[in-house]
Amino acid sequence: MSEPLLRIEDLCVGYGDFIAVNGASMQVGEGQIVSLIGLNGAGKTTLTSAVMGLQKPFSGKVFFGADDITAMHTDKIVSKGLTLIPQGGRCFNRMSVQDNLLMGSFPRSVRRDARERLERVYELFPVLKEKMRDPAGSLSGGQRQMVAIGRALMARPKCLIFDEISLGLSPAVIKDIYHRIRMINESDKTAIILIEQDTRRALKTSDSFFVMLKGRIVLSGKSAEVDEKTLKEAYFGI
Ligand code: ATP
Repeated sequence: MSEPLLRIEDLCVGYGDFIAVNGASMQVGEGQIVSLIGLNGAGKTTLTSAVMGLQKPFSGKVFFGADDITAMHTDKIVSKGLTLIPQGGRCFNRMSVQDNLLMGSFPRSVRRDARERLERVYELFPVLKEKMRDPAGSLSGGQRQMVAIGRALMARPKCLIFDEISLGLSPAVIKDIYHRIRMINESDKTAIILIEQDTRRALKTSDSFFVMLKGRIVLSGKSAEVDEKTLKEAYFGI
């Protein structure tokens, strides 16, 4: 694997006394697509929250490039190039599509390029250009996900985390969104982390994978090389 862009080391995160992530380590190389898969409640979202500075870990470290970003403020983490697209791709429903997108260009380093970034987002999602003046709340679920992805792209990320992007979307929309995720990866060399329950699709898209079970990473490897039986056993803990 290339030099890790994101390095998570022995992270423990929880709620009160409850440990939801128990010593998880994972790495993502520059320009790589990695999937993080696991059952409901395995700890994937909690791990991501801690990586993004939304939740303070009990212990462990997170590095982004050469920087220690453990428990750093989220806006600073985003400025460094790590961005999360949360479950449900939340939008500001009353604001126009374009204003939603412009919200993503808050880091000082990217503000000057906002117009150029906007054009890039419209190139990737032409439907958003057509609807740029419409309130985001009037869009379909898939289109709102596109707005959320576009908003994240405005910050010129080096690494994007997608938290269950397929949730609640039709198979055709999921296919389309995955196609665009690959385009983002190929054209901009953006590293991607796919947090998914749709294991098959995640593995098909990613270079490598990590399986999480009860707060631990129980299996990892190259996506193309994993056999179904080993994966199933790790995924369900059987
Ligand atoms: P999902 O696919 O459902 O999002 P997940 O793998 O992301 O699942 P988490 O949401 O991180 O898992 O949850 C990990 C564990 O932490 C679960 O046992 C969950 O019940 C618990 N948990 C999550 N959020 C909280 C919270 N705010 N307070 C207490 N426990 C929580």
